[in-house]
Amino acid sequence: MPKLKREDWYHIAQKVNWTFSYVSHEEVFPKEIVGETQVPIEAWEEWDEPYKMTYREYVDIQRDKDGGAYAVKSALSKAKITNKLGDGWNNILKMHYGALAVLEWHAGIAEARMARFGLDSAWRNTAVFGSLDEVRHGQMQLYFPHELVREDIQFDWAHKAMHTEEWVSVAARATFDDMFSATNAIDVAVGLPYAFETGFTNLQFLGMAADAMNVGDYNFSSLISSIQTDESRHAQIGEATLQVMMKHDKEKAQEIVDRMFWKAWRLFGVMTGISMDYYSPLKHRSMSFKEFMDEWIINQFMQNIESVGLDKPWFWDQFMYEQDHISHSLQMGIYFWRPTVWWKPVAGMGIEERQWLSEKYPDWEENYGPYWDTIIQNYQNGAVEKTLPETLPVLCSCCNLPICIPDAKTGKVEVKTITYEGQKKHFCSDPCQWIFERNPQRYAGQKTIVDRFLAGEVQPPTVPGLLNYMSLSEHEMGYDPENGAWALQYNKDKNLVI
Ligand code: MN
Ligand code: MN
Repeated sequence: MPKLKREDWYHIAQKVNWTFSYVSHEEVFPKEIVGETQVPIEAWEEWDEPYKMTYREYVDIQRDKDGGAYAVKSALSKAKITNKLGDGWNNILKMHYGALAVLEWHAGIAEARMARFGLDSAWRNTAVFGSLDEVRHGQMQLYFPHELVREDIQFDWAHKAMHTEEWVSVAARATFDDMFSATNAIDVAVGLPYAFETGFTNLQFLGMAADAMNVGDYNFSSLISSIQTDESRHAQIGEATLQVMMKHDKEKAQEIVDRMFWKAWRLFGVMTGISMDYYSPLKHRSMSFKEFMDEWIINQFMQNIESVGLDKPWFWDQFMYEQDHISHSLQMGIYFWRPTVWWKPVAGMGIEERQWLSEKYPDWEENYGPYWDTIIQNYQNGAVEKTLPETLPVLCSCCNLPICIPDAKTGKVEVKTITYEGQKKHFCSDPCQWIFERNPQRYAGQKTIVDRFLAGEVQPPTVPGLLNYMSLSEHEMGYDPENGAWALQYNKDKNLVI
């Protein structure tokens, strides 16, 4: 074998499908776990991954990648660089690890589902590597932050977050269970490696690795690069699957892409949006979230969906409108409800940062400035308690995020309410309502944190009771790392005019 070139033998190992004679096809590939499409079984034989790799090559490359990333980590760990990188960057790391480390491991289960129930042997082979990749990503992203726990207990949430009922964790689990932990192989193949990885994370990870390098976090940069190269390889499962589906069942392909692109966008907007526009140190910011979306996600994704023959998602107008709002709406929400998260939400509202926001988002001052002015006034008057929550926001029954992003048609935040089997369900947007209504029995049993609060599951029904329910001890809950000191730089007499 080693004497043959890969291209001389790969096709023999790539296509090893056979016709079952002792059992039916349906018994080997039950539709509940494979998924249902109009694609004829034999058409899946055309499934072809452009980036070919053998197991021997895989092991060799992965061994080197692991060696590289762990060597950088061990060389830098004594330098305690993370402590020196400032509150904004430090808390980007905590948010990232908590929201992703355990879910990457879960993505390994999703890849394993395709490794068994994918309908062509090449798809199954590629997913075996994908599964091994995701196990590695879970392991690394638990191991790297572990040494930081002794400096800051919130880094413990790299492991802990997904095992709690903390609301960001609930939102992340609701999305990723829907996208990959609790769905069939076809939904996984289009939702995870295409809508999510090709659409968002592949490019986001490139951007994050570059940002980490800019701020001097070489450890995180090498970790993220190591992961990204795996992602770009196994993300090809998405396009290869779509190529087959487009010939026989475009409608189904489009529906999965639309649904998962929207759900991915919601979480991406929270995490990457506030990281880029508020948390990232001003002197290292290369572009705003909107500019990043425009250049990397929207352009690239548009080219990609056109090249496979898909249409733009039907909610494109709302999606484009949200480019000016999602990071700002959610930053306000997370800053205000800061005790309810496992990191320390920076305000990102120094005078120069605010000028930067106005340059990048010309309507920012008009739309969001007055809310921040109220917070500033409260700090200046010593009324810190008024900068903190006493009540709960309305949460979306689909994405589980606070309903705070305006609607493109009215320019206002609109709570869209329906009654399903006697239960009131609230939605943040038309796409979230659409996702729920096309398959209500899948989602109706999910209770938002507010639903649980109203049902008496949170005791005592107070903010401290809720923090306890979300497993946030007083040492773990979020707070403004500057304790509002940034607000005092604004001129009190000039009514906050900069
Ligand atoms: Mn991964
Ligand atoms: Mn992946």
